[in-house]
Amino acid sequence: MATMRYQGWLTWVTLALATVFVPMAVDTKPAPIDFSNQVEQALTLVNPSLKSTKQTQKKETSANETPIESIVQGQTLSRTYYYQFAADVPTSVQTVFERAVRIYNQTGLVKLVAGTATEKQNSVTFFTYAKQMSSENQSLIESGHGGPKIIQQTGWGAYTANHARAGLNVYYPQSSIKLSVAVHELGHAVGLDHSSSRLSVMYPVDQGVSSLSQGDLNALKTIYGEATN
Ligand SMILES: [Zn+2]
Repeated sequence: MATMRYQGWLTWVTLALATVFVPMAVDTKPAPIDFSNQVEQALTLVNPSLKSTKQTQKKETSANETPIESIVQGQTLSRTYYYQFAADVPTSVQTVFERAVRIYNQTGLVKLVAGTATEKQNSVTFFTYAKQMSSENQSLIESGHGGPKIIQQTGWGAYTANHARAGLNVYYPQSSIKLSVAVHELGHAVGLDHSSSRLSVMYPVDQGVSSLSQGDLNALKTIYGEATN
C-alpha cells in the first residue's frame, strides 16, 4: 500500500530504432570479384534526417575512426548488457553470436552477460529472419541487421538504457552465419555505425573481419569509458 507511484509526471522517451542503410551504389570501392561476398549488412528502415546527420558527422571524422550511432551519441550507458536469444534461433547461430560476445567482452569496454535484463538495464536480443532479395538485387544480399534502441526515463529514477537487437538473415546462411557478420551486427547493437575503414568490423560490406580495429575500440571507449579490466 505504501508503494509510491510517480507515473503521473514521468516522461517516457523512446527514440527510434537506429537505422543504418548504406546503398551499395554510393560505395566507390572496387566491387569484390566474388559477388556472393558482396554482402549488404543493413537495417531495413531509413530515416532521411538521420542519414543526413551521419553524412555531416562522417566528414568530421578521420578515415579510421568508427562513427557512433547518432541516437547513442551523448548518452550515458552502462557497459553491462544482458543478452538472450529469440525462441527460434538455431544452435549454429547461437554459437556464432556467443563467439561475437566473447570478442566484445575481451575488450573490457562492454560486458555482455547471458540473462534477462530489467527495463532499466541494457539488453541485446539475438534473432534470425529470412529475407529473400529480389532477383535484380542478388549482388546486394543483406546478411543481417541490428541496432540500438534507447529508452529514457526522466524525472524520478531517471535512467537511460539500450534495448538493442542483432539479427542474421538465415535465408542466406552461407553469407550470414559468420563470425564477422555477428560481430558487425552486435557492433550496431552496442552503438557503432558504419565505418569507411576496411580494418573495421563496421565496414558495411563483409570483409571477413572479426577483430575490432583501433577505431572500433576508440568508439566503444567514447560510449562506455575506459576499460575496467
Ligand atoms: Zn551494418
